[in-house]
Amino acid sequence: MDFKYHYTPEQEAFRQEVRTWLEENIPGNMRAPVDRLDLTEEHYTFWRQMHQVLASKGWLYPTYPKEYGGGGLSGEHETIINEEFERARVVPDFTNTYVFPTMLVWGTEEQKRNLLAPILRAEKVAFQNFTEPNAGSDLASLQSRAVRDGDDWIISGQKTFISGHGDPDFLFGPIVTDPDAPRHRNLGYFLIPCPAPGLELKRLNLLTGNDQSFIFMDNVRVPGDHLIGGDREGWQVSQTTLEIEHGGRGIVMPRDEALDNLLMYVRGTGSNGDSLGEDPVVQQDAMGAYIESRIHDLLSRRNYWMYQARQEMTYHGSQSALYRKEFRIRNADKARNIMGMYSLLGVNEPRAPFGGQPEVYQRSSLTGAHPGGTIEIQKVIMARRLGISRTRERAAATPSTSGVSGV
Ligand SMILES: Cc1cc2nc3c(=O)[nH]c(=O)nc-3n(C[C@H](O)[C@H](O)[C@H](O)COP(=O)(O)OP(=O)(O)OC[C@H]3O[C@@H](n4cnc5c(N)ncnc54)[C@H](O)[C@@H]3O)c2cc1C
Repeated sequence: MDFKYHYTPEQEAFRQEVRTWLEENIPGNMRAPVDRLDLTEEHYTFWRQMHQVLASKGWLYPTYPKEYGGGGLSGEHETIINEEFERARVVPDFTNTYVFPTMLVWGTEEQKRNLLAPILRAEKVAFQNFTEPNAGSDLASLQSRAVRDGDDWIISGQKTFISGHGDPDFLFGPIVTDPDAPRHRNLGYFLIPCPAPGLELKRLNLLTGNDQSFIFMDNVRVPGDHLIGGDREGWQVSQTTLEIEHGGRGIVMPRDEALDNLLMYVRGTGSNGDSLGEDPVVQQDAMGAYIESRIHDLLSRRNYWMYQARQEMTYHGSQSALYRKEFRIRNADKARNIMGMYSLLGVNEPRAPFGGQPEVYQRSSLTGAHPGGTIEIQKVIMARRLGISRTRERAAATPSTSGVSGV
């Protein structure tokens, strides 16, 4: 079976167009730094502007509907764009993209035009506002409260681990609207406009830097038309966000930079003049890393194909999310076995291989195990969907399965 995707001449011409444009318009000093911590104010300002330009070309969010600010292009276009963006070290948009499928499924026509479109056009940035100090894996234990006040809602409470660089224009996620209602029927899903009186964002400092924040909300006023879905449907709306976050949209991986670098390192020469790959122990680790990366690639591609083909999914998203979270930690270990102390040299160390990428990988493989459901939680979801759990569960609605335009 031939797993390689063969592009048509038209698609190759499109690739060339994207590649040339990026080469001509992205200055070398604005390309994504090896460590996201090194993103400067200058980078941020440049990319906020550039994301809007890319959106206007239809390349930032290629498959979303044109009328809401997307590109109206195909999955193949999206794949080519991903590959070329990765090649040109394009800094990703600062928005958490899980808001898009959620709004497409649950938003009204007005909300799609007034709230979704400015985010898809990269004029506004949205962060995912789910986790609370006492509600992470067990999201249904949320405590932040939304109380009606005329047409508006008044929101108070605290969120934590909210990812995003710079300041958001919106925070999206579930808040308790009726504390007396049963679990899963007691939430609304809000797009909270920022900045707002009573809303404070305080940076956390995690292993991978300070792109996560505490959010404190003290009587924050939110307009009624910023409630997505019904005022008791927040759990169901959240499941759409999580379905995508758990891998349900798949991805055609442009490339695994950590693996490519590891293989290049092994091809290099050891201190005794032999290729490192001649060492049988190194060879075993390197091939183990290669196989793991390829398996993940195939799982992600399968999901991407199923999503684009509007096939019903069950355990598939969580299977690839689980595999990704686990294999990256194993491959970071293998990189450490092979590169030794060099894998721990940071970006400012002249002797760090690949500009310090292996060191960044050591840290990001660990923090990457937590967001959007931990390793254990992915297994819980798979078990529920495979029918080997106390509760049974179907995949949540996504743009793919609910038949709305744009995926
Ligand atoms: C880098 C990073 C970025 C993040 N970004 C965001 C963001 O943008 N927005 C947002 O809302 N949140 C974000 N999070 C929060 C993330 O979603 C939570 O950390 C995650 O859901 C786990 O919740 P918790 O940290 O409260 O751990 P807990 O839920 O307290 O879990 C602790 C441990 O218990 C295990 N566990 C819990 N329940 C079970 C169970 N039923 N069965 C088996 N094991 C279980 C977990 O696997 C984990 O190992 C981010 C976290 C990190 C680290």
